[in-house]
Amino acid sequence: MNFDEIRALRKAFASVKNRQKKNIPQDFAEKIKRLKAVRESSVGNEALITRTIKKIEENGIQVFRATSKDDAIKIVLQEIGSERLVVKSKSNITKEIYLTTELQSRGIEVIETDIGDRILQVLQCKPSHPTGPVSHLSAKTIAKGLSKIYGQSIREDPEDIVRFIRDEIRGYIEKAHVGITGANAITAEEGSIVLAHNEGNIFEVIRKEKQIVITAIDKVYPTIEDAINMVKIICFHATGSLIPSFVEIISGTSKTADVEKRFFKGVHSPKEIVLILLDNKRSEIIEKGFRELLYCIDCGNCLLHCPMYNTVGNYFAEDKYLGGKGLAYQSLSQEETNKKLEFCLTCGRCRKNCPLSIDVPAAIRNIRSESFPQEIYYFIKSHLFWLYYALRLKLQ
Ligand code: SF4
Repeated sequence: MNFDEIRALRKAFASVKNRQKKNIPQDFAEKIKRLKAVRESSVGNEALITRTIKKIEENGIQVFRATSKDDAIKIVLQEIGSERLVVKSKSNITKEIYLTTELQSRGIEVIETDIGDRILQVLQCKPSHPTGPVSHLSAKTIAKGLSKIYGQSIREDPEDIVRFIRDEIRGYIEKAHVGITGANAITAEEGSIVLAHNEGNIFEVIRKEKQIVITAIDKVYPTIEDAINMVKIICFHATGSLIPSFVEIISGTSKTADVEKRFFKGVHSPKEIVLILLDNKRSEIIEKGFRELLYCIDCGNCLLHCPMYNTVGNYFAEDKYLGGKGLAYQSLSQEETNKKLEFCLTCGRCRKNCPLSIDVPAAIRNIRSESFPQEIYYFIKSHLFWLYYALRLKLQ
């Protein structure tokens, strides 16, 4: 990320923080308390996962459990069958398993339908925020990149850029028969899949003949009410708004029993829904004693307040694993500790601003240090590194 991108990122983050100040939700403390209690009792709760799967299956949705990334990719390929085009919505789990690159390497065209994600895909850039992936790119940079790629002049106007990308995406949506989404939550009581969005693209993706949902075992919630509470909290922390434009609750395929009460599935779309429930080292992370990291709801509020992230941007990240929490999680889910963890200042601002009060600095100290003197070394190194880049940013 260059200095212009870091400035654009700071501007975007400042506008979210201002919106948050104006929009503090009613009963905020109560909502947070409820979310914390739900995450503490649900994450890693095998009985709740089993109940959820049973209920989802009763609703006519086929469920697969995938232990690893490779398992998940195999199931997706099997479900896509002979189709050569899929449209997908924003999903951090699909980024985690590099789904797009994996499918493309097998000749399947994958089109992101979220505006920010499509821009990232076309420009081949890395994300800078879990819900606002192009927060670091100015309209000027995006327009320049798109104009070059599409060989036509696109104005530096955000509305023109959005319209251009939307029209481009629409062509693919019309042709595709398979849609892939993530899920913000799946619920045990109702067997439902909960998806939140602002753009309206998810309407289109879930109306394909077949919907493939990929989510992880830590997305299980006891009830829809608990899931909606979480959606409100994500939305406030990610955008400063109280509720996203749309919340989809999917509890089965399109169906009717209108004529002689004879049950018929697939009146409109989707005719078929499959859900892939991924572990991908989550159980190991819990066993290693880092269960708290899985409470994360991917709101990105920690990034808004992280001094290192606000100074070096997504250099303090690895692919979709952004900031201290992302790097800690990535280090635990792979063989090696990511060296960038050494840049964490352990200032604690992430914990203070996290709706779940996740103690990311404690987790990082635990992962990166074997001894107290080593931790002092990291402390000095990270602060000198931060100071150097903060001064450069100021003087540029
Ligand atoms: S660690 Fe906390 S603040 Fe950061 S993304 Fe997760 S829930 Fe949000």
